[in-house]
Amino acid sequence: MNVPQILTNATPWTLDHDHAVHPWVNFGAFERDGSLVLTRGEGCHVWDAAGTRYFDAIGGMWCTNVGLGRAEMAQAMADQAMKLAYTNYFCDVTSDTTALLAGKLAALAPGDLNRVFFTTGGSTAVETAIRTVAYYHHCKGNPQKTGIVARENSYHGSTYLTQSVGKRNGDRVEEFRYQSEGIYHLSSPYLYRRPAHLTEAQFCDQLIAEFEALIAREGADRIGGFIAEPIQASGGIIVPPAGYLQRMWEVCQRHDILFIADEVVTSFGRLGHWFASWDEFGVMPDMIATAKGLTSGYVPLGALLLSDRIWAVMAEGGQRWFTTGFTYSGHPVSCAVALKNIEIMEREDLLGNAARVGAYFETRLAELSALPLVGDVRGRKLMLCVESVADKESKALLPDEANESKRISATAEAMGLMVRPLGHLNVMSPALTITEGQVDFVVETLGKAIARVT
Ligand code: PLP
Repeated sequence: MNVPQILTNATPWTLDHDHAVHPWVNFGAFERDGSLVLTRGEGCHVWDAAGTRYFDAIGGMWCTNVGLGRAEMAQAMADQAMKLAYTNYFCDVTSDTTALLAGKLAALAPGDLNRVFFTTGGSTAVETAIRTVAYYHHCKGNPQKTGIVARENSYHGSTYLTQSVGKRNGDRVEEFRYQSEGIYHLSSPYLYRRPAHLTEAQFCDQLIAEFEALIAREGADRIGGFIAEPIQASGGIIVPPAGYLQRMWEVCQRHDILFIADEVVTSFGRLGHWFASWDEFGVMPDMIATAKGLTSGYVPLGALLLSDRIWAVMAEGGQRWFTTGFTYSGHPVSCAVALKNIEIMEREDLLGNAARVGAYFETRLAELSALPLVGDVRGRKLMLCVESVADKESKALLPDEANESKRISATAEAMGLMVRPLGHLNVMSPALTITEGQVDFVVETLGKAIARVT
């Protein structure tokens, strides 16, 4: 690589430190420590600039589903770039590759989710879903039905609208302004931290009643959509109580509230299915937002899947315009990579592997609950975490200054394992190719790291 003369004394670390602004950067820590510079990846492993190898149990950012370093993914990219690198996708132009992917996604999606709106990533897929809610109800003659119901501990993206709809405590810094009008937040279905006097079933009843009370208070004619990650991801790997999602869906159906499943994390095999809503939770959403595992992170791409019912309402009348989209919507190179990604998953039965090895991971990780610092071990298949507490009985958290999850991750990293620190959690979402032997390494190394930090 040719480096400009002025930069010849610089290293990737100094260039990053002196010039980059990272997402979610903590200014103080970044100024002090800078970044870990990675230079190579293969399967579940990555290497840093000094040649040290790490097992990436984070899966990049929940996304390297088929694993890194696949030559055929790179080849698919190159072939498409040579054939047709780009085409305008607005209105009525497409590429053959983009059309093929639209058809493939419609075939993989549950029920009548047969329409695909391509986006640049997860945030733009969710943003489009939220805007579609208002558009759909307007077309049906209910222009007031625009309210969006979301939950505490949700993360739906980083655009202005999606970050207003999401609500993780750590993100709600005063300096950023959020839209609040017409956005409602219900309690998170956080089973581990439910009120102590409630059983799981009673907690579920309470959550449903909260939703119904909100609709009664605001009026069903003002609430247009409900958005949920089937398992809340970066809000804390929160698996809802049994039956919760189905019952929320039933409430939505009763009031013509569109159910948006944010499957940016849970689709493309993380829970052993193409999409988790129906196959894991028995819910048929009106829209599914997906990204990440769709291309296994090799290139950016997102998609919003829409039901035939929504399409029919929006298309009725014939003269309307759906005035939303991006220069890179339906990008042929991204779509070629997604098609290859799906082909690999099918050929190698990676969904089956995620289900089998994920079940083994759940069982093995549960062993860590015996450690004094561990309050909860939870998640499903390849979407798991441990939550640290100061006291197992009261579930009291350690003070933020204890920084225990960061110290656990740093200790694990020194032993060649990457797990993600997130509040008081350490989170794992490895590639779907993970083996039982690799699970053993992850659990044993994480266990040692937690024991050392205790
Ligand atoms: N939705 C969920 C559940 C996510 O976890 C994320 C990202 O982590 C997003 C949406 C936003 O996706 P992107 O970062 O691709 O915009």
